[in-house]
Amino acid sequence: MDAGFRVGLGYDSHRLSAHAGRAERGRPMVVGGIRLASDHGPVAHSDGDALMHAVTDAVLGAAGLADIGELFPDTDPRWAGTASEIFLTEAVRRAGALGWSVINIDATVILERPKLAPHKPEIRANLARILGVAVERVNIKGKTHELLDPTQSGQKIEAHAVALMGRAAHG
Ligand code: MG
Repeated sequence: MDAGFRVGLGYDSHRLSAHAGRAERGRPMVVGGIRLASDHGPVAHSDGDALMHAVTDAVLGAAGLADIGELFPDTDPRWAGTASEIFLTEAVRRAGALGWSVINIDATVILERPKLAPHKPEIRANLARILGVAVERVNIKGKTHELLDPTQSGQKIEAHAVALMGRAAHG
């Protein structure tokens, strides 16, 4: 029996580096499509938006589609520095073509600094806009790293997301 629901899991992480003075320069810090003031940012081929990438993979996973790395390879110059909204928009479109729409998203972002809390409403609203759902259906939780080696602190952003999808009728 087809219950009409699918759950998908997404995960992503990016190394963080200063914007200047390093061999590996960090890009601007963008989380869920929102630019945060920060002296460091992700080292990445695209814009390094770990949250957007995790949500994209959750949606793709729920719909049984190929993952973000397969659909948008980081060897493809088209995606260099690109705003990751394009990935999530495409994931939603492909899932929709199979009859799946997002019911809700729950995500956790693990980041030492900058603090996520003040930006959560804006991030939720932006993801909800891209997903085409009400903002109550997108939840974001912020955590800090609890690494064994404190010198590693702040050198990574990590995001986990789950997506519940339903047959379009559940909209
Ligand atoms: Mg990524």
